[in-house]
Amino acid sequence: MAGIVVVFDFDSTIIECDSDNWVLDETGFTEKFYELLPTTLWNPLMDRMMGELHSEGKTIEEIVEILKRTPLNPRIVHAIEAAYSLGCDLKIVSDANMFFIETILKHHGVRNCFSEIIANPSYGVIIERIQNLLSTEGKKKFIYLGDGNGDFCPSLKLKESDYLMPRKDFPLSDLVSKDSNKIKAEVHGWKDGEELENVLVHIINKEIEGNKINNNSTPKISIDCKLGSIPIMDTTTYQPLPKALPVRH
Ligand SMILES: [Mg+2]
Repeated sequence: MAGIVVVFDFDSTIIECDSDNWVLDETGFTEKFYELLPTTLWNPLMDRMMGELHSEGKTIEEIVEILKRTPLNPRIVHAIEAAYSLGCDLKIVSDANMFFIETILKHHGVRNCFSEIIANPSYGVIIERIQNLLSTEGKKKFIYLGDGNGDFCPSLKLKESDYLMPRKDFPLSDLVSKDSNKIKAEVHGWKDGEELENVLVHIINKEIEGNKINNNSTPKISIDCKLGSIPIMDTTTYQPLPKALPVRH
């Protein structure tokens, strides 16, 4: 394992839209949903709408076909596969419907890249729980990707050694700009699947390279002390990525 945990939001981060809205639009239930929304909370109403869809004769197979058509940039699939193959631990923390998330990920062949999917959580509490869990396993780094207001709270929990990847021109990015002094993590924006892939893979490679330097430096120092001829690598001069700059190739 690379010692890196990558946490993805789902709606407007992995997929291009809101999964609830996509299913409602594609089934023609949007108007009814928004009529009822003033008197009901979003998630219980969405559960109720699934019941309504069923009673109106929509089959689960039809919903699955709609979910398979959800807009998703193929570069994001590449990014997920790359992060997984580089040894990262991938998780999803989202308020989207678990069945929607799993169906879409399975369709794109990346469900097995994720060790955990946490749906409908209190974001900040979940991030804290994951951090506590991992602190017992040694030093791990987090990379958090998100777009919405709900992603701001977990962003505040990230440490200086972590990374935050807010989607440009979305609410999280605005909140981070306004309250940048509250964010301890290194911030790197992205606007689309291509930038997400480039920035994420760059950060992971940089971290893996940094680990190699750190891991190799310990035995080198002891050998150097004996031989007195091989220079000791100075890990303190390792340069971090410039803040909030997109990576271009
Ligand atoms: Mg989102």
